[in-house]
Amino acid sequence: MEASKALFEKAKMYFPGGVNSPVRAFKSVGGTPIFFEKGKGAHVWDADGNQYIDFCCSWGPLILGHAPDAVVEAIVSTASKGSSFGAPTREENELADLILSNHKYIEKIRFVSSGTEAAMSAIRLARGVTGRNKVIKFEGCYHGHVDALLVKAGSGLATLGTSSSAGIPEAYAKETIVVPLNDIQAFDEAVEKYRGDIAVVAIEPIPANNGLLIQDGVFLKHLREVCTREGILLLFDEVISGFRVGFEGASGYYGIQPDVVAFGKIIGGGMPVGAYGSTAEVMSHVAPEGPVYQAGTLSGNPVAMAAGAAQLRACLQPGFYERLNEMTESLCSQVQAHADAKGYVFRMFHVGSIFWVSFSKEKAVRRMDEIPENSGKLFAPFHHFLLEKGVYLGPSGYEVGFVSHAHSNEDITYAAQAFCEALDYTFSQNQ
Ligand SMILES: *Cc1c(COP(=O)(O)O)cnc(C)c1O
Repeated sequence: MEASKALFEKAKMYFPGGVNSPVRAFKSVGGTPIFFEKGKGAHVWDADGNQYIDFCCSWGPLILGHAPDAVVEAIVSTASKGSSFGAPTREENELADLILSNHKYIEKIRFVSSGTEAAMSAIRLARGVTGRNKVIKFEGCYHGHVDALLVKAGSGLATLGTSSSAGIPEAYAKETIVVPLNDIQAFDEAVEKYRGDIAVVAIEPIPANNGLLIQDGVFLKHLREVCTREGILLLFDEVISGFRVGFEGASGYYGIQPDVVAFGKIIGGGMPVGAYGSTAEVMSHVAPEGPVYQAGTLSGNPVAMAAGAAQLRACLQPGFYERLNEMTESLCSQVQAHADAKGYVFRMFHVGSIFWVSFSKEKAVRRMDEIPENSGKLFAPFHHFLLEKGVYLGPSGYEVGFVSHAHSNEDITYAAQAFCEALDYTFSQNQ
C-alpha cells in the first residue's frame, strides 16, 4: 500500500480530507484509501500493482464492468470529433430514443450532468408544476447533495426537518418533511398535517444509500394512491435503481407509474450524466418550453451521451438482467449458507444485482432505525480482510455492492469463498 499511502499524503494537501467525495476517504473502515490505476472488466489494479475483483463498480454506474470495449470505442470516436459544442448534437437524440422507446414510464427527458442535479431539478419541476413548496422525503434515502434534501427528521412525528449539513439555512430545511420508510401511518399523518402544501414525495423506490432497505410493494403503491388523490407529484429517484434492477428500474420492477423519475449513474456509461423525465405534459413546464428554469453548459455532452448509449444498448440484449441476477443470487446464497451454518448474525440482502452485507438477524430491514448499531464496527474488519484477499467493496458498511456483467463465474466463486473467510475472521475478532 506504499504508493497509495504516498498519493494520499499528497492528496491531503490539495483536497479537503484528501478526496473529492467524502465516502472515498475510508473514514468508516479506517486505513488509507486505495488509489486505482486501471480497471478492465470486473478487475481493478491499484497504484501498488495489487489486483482486486471490484464490487464497488464506481458506486453503481459500471454495469458492464470497467472499460468495456463498446463504451471505450464510443468515447474515443465521439471525442475525436469534438467534445462539446454548447449546441444540440445527434448523440443526445440517440440516447433519448434508446431510453424513451424502452421505458414506458416516461415520455420526455432532460439530460443533466449528475444524479444530484437530476434530483434537484426534479424537485424544482414538481414545485413549479404544483405551485406548492413542501417536500416529503424518507429517512435513510439519499438524493445527492441537494439543499432541500440534506435534511433529517426534526423531533417528533411528521415535524419539519432540520438540515443535516452546515451551510443550509433552516428556512430551506423547514420546507422538507422527513418520515420513516415503509411506514404508512407516519406518511399519512405528514400528508394530513401539510395538506395542500406538499409539492412532491421523493423516494428511492429501492433505497440503496443507507444499506439496502427493500420496501414493501404495498407501501410504494400507497404512496402512489395518496399522491394521485392529493395532487402531489411522486418522484422516484432511480439514480441507483434505474437500468439496474431491469431497464425500467424500480418503476418496472414494482409496476408503479411515478410522476417524475430521476436518473444518474448507469445512464452515463461511467461519464458524468444525470437526467429527469416525466410525461410530455409535465416536462412542458421546463424551460424553454415552460417557466421552470434549468440549464447546463455541458448538459447532453456528446461524449457522455455516446458512452451512455453504448452501455444501455448492451443492457437491452436478451438475458442481460437475468444473468446479472443469477450471479448475484449465487454470491449471496453461498455466503448466507455459510453464515447460517456457523450461526452468525448476518444477512446478505439483494435485489437485482445490488447486494448489501448486513450484520442483522432480521429477514427484512426496511427502515433506517432497523439497521443494527454495530454494523459499521463489524464491517471494518470484514472490509480489510477482503482487501487482503483481493476483493474490493465500497469502504462503508452502509453502502451496497454491485455485480457487473463482467463478473465471471470464477470471480463469483472466488469472492463467495473470500466473503465466507472474511466472516469467519470478523466473528472470531468479535466474539
Ligand atoms: C448517487 C445518487 C445520487 C447522487 O448522484 P451524484 O451523481 O452522486 O450526484 C442521488 N440519488 C441517488 C438515489 C443516488 O444513488
